[in-house]
Amino acid sequence: MQLEINNIEYNLIKKKMKQLRDTYMQSNDQEICNVVKEQVFFELGTKINSFADFFAEFFEKCEMNSLKEIDDLEEAVLALIKVVKLPQIEYERMKKKVKMPEKNLKRVVKNYNEAVLNEPLTYYSQQIDEKKVFVFPKDEECLMVLCDTSRYNGGRKILCDFCNGFRTSDEILFVSNTIKLNKEEYSTLGLNCCSDYIKCNQDILQTEKLTDFLRYGKEKIKSKRRKM
Ligand SMILES: [Zn+2]
Repeated sequence: MQLEINNIEYNLIKKKMKQLRDTYMQSNDQEICNVVKEQVFFELGTKINSFADFFAEFFEKCEMNSLKEIDDLEEAVLALIKVVKLPQIEYERMKKKVKMPEKNLKRVVKNYNEAVLNEPLTYYSQQIDEKKVFVFPKDEECLMVLCDTSRYNGGRKILCDFCNGFRTSDEILFVSNTIKLNKEEYSTLGLNCCSDYIKCNQDILQTEKLTDFLRYGKEKIKSKRRKM
Protein backbone atom coordinates (compact mmCIF):
# COMPACT_ATOMS: atom_id res chain seq x y z
CA MET A 1 0.00 0.00 0.00
CA GLN A 2 1.21 3.49 -0.84
CA LEU A 3 0.63 6.79 0.88
CA GLU A 4 -0.96 9.27 -1.51
CA ILE A 5 0.25 12.81 -1.05
CA ASN A 6 0.26 16.03 -3.04
CA ASN A 7 3.23 17.82 -4.55
CA ILE A 8 3.63 20.20 -1.61
CA GLU A 9 3.78 17.34 0.87
CA TYR A 10 6.29 15.62 -1.37
CA ASN A 11 8.47 18.74 -1.40
CA LEU A 12 8.26 18.94 2.38
CA ILE A 13 9.43 15.35 2.76
CA LYS A 14 12.37 15.99 0.41
CA LYS A 15 13.26 19.14 2.32
CA LYS A 16 13.12 17.43 5.69
CA MET A 17 15.21 14.51 4.48
CA LYS A 18 17.79 17.00 3.29
CA GLN A 19 17.70 18.58 6.73
CA LEU A 20 18.51 15.18 8.27
CA ARG A 21 21.43 14.77 5.90
CA ASP A 22 22.69 18.29 6.59
CA THR A 23 22.42 17.78 10.34
CA TYR A 24 24.45 14.62 10.12
CA MET A 25 27.11 16.32 8.01
CA GLN A 26 27.35 19.23 10.43
CA SER A 27 27.26 17.44 13.73
CA ASN A 28 29.05 14.41 15.09
CA ASP A 29 26.83 14.41 18.10
CA GLN A 30 24.48 11.51 17.70
CA GLU A 31 22.14 12.85 20.31
CA ILE A 32 21.61 16.05 18.32
CA CYS A 33 21.07 14.02 15.19
CA ASN A 34 18.43 11.96 16.91
CA VAL A 35 16.64 14.99 18.31
CA VAL A 36 16.47 16.46 14.81
CA LYS A 37 15.22 13.14 13.49
CA GLU A 38 12.44 13.17 16.09
CA GLN A 39 11.53 16.74 15.15
CA VAL A 40 11.45 15.88 11.47
CA PHE A 41 9.25 12.88 12.12
CA PHE A 42 6.94 14.94 14.31
CA GLU A 43 6.61 17.75 11.76
CA LEU A 44 5.93 15.42 8.87
CA GLY A 45 3.47 13.49 11.00
CA THR A 46 1.64 16.68 11.92
CA LYS A 47 1.46 18.06 8.42
CA ILE A 48 0.87 14.95 6.36
CA ASN A 49 -2.10 12.70 6.97
CA SER A 50 -1.16 9.13 7.92
CA PHE A 51 2.56 9.83 7.64
CA ALA A 52 3.18 8.73 11.23
CA ASP A 53 1.23 5.49 10.77
CA PHE A 54 3.12 4.65 7.62
CA PHE A 55 6.64 5.53 8.66
CA ALA A 56 7.05 5.38 12.46
CA GLU A 57 8.96 2.10 12.26
CA PHE A 58 11.26 3.38 9.53
CA PHE A 59 12.24 6.37 11.61
CA GLU A 60 12.71 4.29 14.74
CA LYS A 61 15.05 1.95 12.94
CA CYS A 62 17.21 4.77 11.61
CA GLU A 63 19.80 5.48 14.31
CA MET A 64 21.50 8.32 12.48
CA ASN A 65 24.82 6.46 12.51
CA SER A 66 25.74 7.03 8.91
CA LEU A 67 24.71 8.93 5.80
CA LYS A 68 23.82 5.64 4.24
CA GLU A 69 21.25 5.06 6.94
CA ILE A 70 19.66 8.41 6.19
CA ASP A 71 19.71 7.76 2.46
CA ASP A 72 18.15 4.35 3.03
CA LEU A 73 15.44 5.95 5.16
CA GLU A 74 14.67 8.45 2.43
CA GLU A 75 14.63 5.77 -0.22
CA ALA A 76 12.32 3.58 1.85
CA VAL A 77 9.93 6.46 2.49
CA LEU A 78 9.85 7.63 -1.12
CA ALA A 79 9.27 4.09 -2.33
CA LEU A 80 5.99 3.99 -0.44
CA ILE A 81 4.79 7.38 -1.55
CA LYS A 82 2.67 8.27 -4.51
CA VAL A 83 2.29 11.88 -5.58
CA VAL A 84 -1.25 12.46 -6.79
CA LYS A 85 -1.46 14.01 -10.23
CA LEU A 86 -3.38 17.21 -10.84
CA PRO A 87 -6.76 16.65 -12.54
CA GLN A 88 -7.21 16.93 -16.27
CA ILE A 89 -9.06 20.02 -17.52
CA GLU A 90 -11.39 20.67 -20.46
CA TYR A 91 -11.41 23.51 -22.91
CA GLU A 92 -15.17 24.10 -22.57
CA ARG A 93 -14.90 24.66 -18.83
CA MET A 94 -11.82 26.82 -19.05
CA LYS A 95 -13.02 29.21 -21.72
CA LYS A 96 -15.41 30.82 -19.24
CA LYS A 97 -12.55 31.64 -16.92
CA VAL A 98 -10.21 33.58 -19.09
CA LYS A 99 -10.35 35.72 -22.20
CA MET A 100 -7.91 34.30 -24.67
CA PRO A 101 -8.00 33.43 -28.37
CA GLU A 102 -9.44 29.95 -28.83
CA LYS A 103 -6.29 28.65 -30.47
CA ASN A 104 -4.11 29.75 -27.53
CA LEU A 105 -6.44 28.43 -24.88
CA LYS A 106 -6.71 25.07 -26.61
CA ARG A 107 -2.94 24.89 -26.63
CA VAL A 108 -2.74 25.74 -22.93
CA VAL A 109 -5.30 23.07 -22.05
CA LYS A 110 -3.45 20.49 -24.11
CA ASN A 111 -0.05 21.42 -22.65
CA TYR A 112 -1.43 21.45 -19.13
CA ASN A 113 -3.00 18.01 -19.54
CA GLU A 114 0.29 16.60 -20.79
CA ALA A 115 2.39 18.33 -18.13
CA VAL A 116 0.38 17.01 -15.19
CA LEU A 117 0.90 13.46 -16.40
CA ASN A 118 4.65 13.89 -16.50
CA GLU A 119 5.46 16.05 -13.49
CA PRO A 120 4.34 16.22 -9.88
CA LEU A 121 2.82 19.70 -9.85
CA THR A 122 0.94 22.12 -7.65
CA TYR A 123 0.25 24.58 -10.44
CA TYR A 124 0.93 24.88 -14.14
CA SER A 125 2.16 27.90 -16.01
CA GLN A 126 3.22 28.83 -19.50
CA GLN A 127 4.28 31.86 -21.42
CA ILE A 128 2.05 33.12 -24.23
CA ASP A 129 3.75 35.93 -26.09
CA GLU A 130 4.28 38.63 -23.45
CA LYS A 131 1.83 37.10 -21.02
CA LYS A 132 1.92 34.20 -18.65
CA VAL A 133 -1.00 31.96 -17.89
CA PHE A 134 -1.43 30.16 -14.56
CA VAL A 135 -3.60 27.12 -13.96
CA PHE A 136 -4.13 26.02 -10.38
CA PRO A 137 -6.71 23.37 -9.53
CA LYS A 138 -7.80 24.02 -5.98
CA ASP A 139 -10.38 21.80 -4.30
CA GLU A 140 -13.39 21.72 -6.57
CA GLU A 141 -12.55 24.78 -8.62
CA CYS A 142 -9.75 25.40 -11.07
CA LEU A 143 -8.23 28.86 -11.01
CA MET A 144 -6.91 30.18 -14.28
CA VAL A 145 -5.50 33.63 -14.85
CA LEU A 146 -3.69 35.36 -17.69
CA CYS A 147 -1.10 37.80 -16.39
CA ASP A 148 1.07 40.56 -17.75
CA THR A 149 4.75 40.03 -17.18
CA SER A 150 7.89 42.06 -17.05
CA ARG A 151 11.51 41.06 -16.62
CA TYR A 152 14.18 42.30 -14.28
CA ASN A 153 17.64 43.22 -15.34
CA GLY A 154 20.79 43.23 -13.27
CA GLY A 155 22.32 40.35 -11.44
CA ARG A 156 20.71 40.59 -8.05
CA LYS A 157 18.84 37.82 -6.27
CA ILE A 158 15.09 37.98 -5.96
CA LEU A 159 12.69 35.94 -3.88
CA CYS A 160 9.89 34.05 -5.62
CA ASP A 161 6.62 34.76 -3.82
CA PHE A 162 5.22 31.32 -4.58
CA CYS A 163 8.06 29.01 -3.58
CA ASN A 164 10.22 31.37 -1.48
CA GLY A 165 13.23 30.37 -3.54
CA PHE A 166 16.03 32.87 -4.11
CA ARG A 167 16.75 33.14 -7.83
CA THR A 168 18.90 35.35 -9.96
CA SER A 169 16.88 38.18 -11.48
CA ASP A 170 16.87 36.61 -14.95
CA GLU A 171 15.05 33.61 -13.48
CA ILE A 172 12.29 35.76 -12.01
CA LEU A 173 9.34 37.45 -13.64
CA PHE A 174 7.21 40.20 -12.24
CA VAL A 175 3.66 39.09 -12.97
CA SER A 176 0.53 41.14 -12.51
CA ASN A 177 -3.08 40.14 -12.27
CA THR A 178 -5.25 43.02 -13.42
CA ILE A 179 -9.00 43.13 -13.18
CA LYS A 180 -11.50 45.59 -14.56
CA LEU A 181 -13.81 46.90 -11.86
CA ASN A 182 -15.85 49.12 -14.16
CA LYS A 183 -15.44 51.17 -17.32
CA GLU A 184 -12.40 53.12 -16.20
CA GLU A 185 -11.35 51.52 -12.99
CA TYR A 186 -8.75 48.79 -12.88
CA SER A 187 -7.05 47.09 -10.02
CA THR A 188 -3.76 45.21 -10.12
CA LEU A 189 -1.91 42.83 -7.87
CA GLY A 190 1.69 42.03 -8.76
CA LEU A 191 4.34 39.73 -7.40
CA ASN A 192 7.54 37.92 -8.29
CA CYS A 193 7.59 34.35 -9.47
CA CYS A 194 9.99 31.87 -11.02
CA SER A 195 9.97 31.99 -14.80
CA ASP A 196 10.54 28.22 -14.73
CA TYR A 197 7.37 26.82 -13.22
CA ILE A 198 8.83 23.33 -12.90
CA LYS A 199 11.63 24.59 -10.69
CA CYS A 200 9.06 26.54 -8.69
CA ASN A 201 6.92 23.45 -8.28
CA GLN A 202 9.86 21.54 -6.89
CA ASP A 203 10.32 24.08 -4.10
CA ILE A 204 6.81 25.23 -3.30
CA LEU A 205 5.71 24.40 0.24
CA GLN A 206 2.45 26.29 0.59
CA THR A 207 -0.29 27.66 -1.64
CA GLU A 208 -1.56 30.73 0.24
CA LYS A 209 0.23 33.26 -1.95
CA LEU A 210 -0.65 31.41 -5.11
CA THR A 211 -4.30 31.24 -4.11
CA ASP A 212 -4.46 34.90 -3.07
CA PHE A 213 -2.83 36.00 -6.28
CA LEU A 214 -4.97 33.93 -8.61
CA ARG A 215 -8.21 34.66 -6.75
CA TYR A 216 -7.43 38.34 -6.64
CA GLY A 217 -9.99 39.37 -9.26
CA LYS A 218 -12.81 37.38 -7.72
CA GLU A 219 -12.17 38.68 -4.22
CA LYS A 220 -11.83 42.24 -5.38
CA ILE A 221 -15.10 42.19 -7.30
CA LYS A 222 -16.87 40.61 -4.35
CA SER A 223 -15.67 43.29 -1.93
CA LYS A 224 -16.57 45.98 -4.43
CA ARG A 225 -20.12 44.63 -4.63
CA ARG A 226 -20.36 44.57 -0.86
CA LYS A 227 -19.43 48.24 -0.70
CA MET A 228 -22.02 49.30 -3.28
ZN1 LIG B 1 9.15 29.93 -7.43
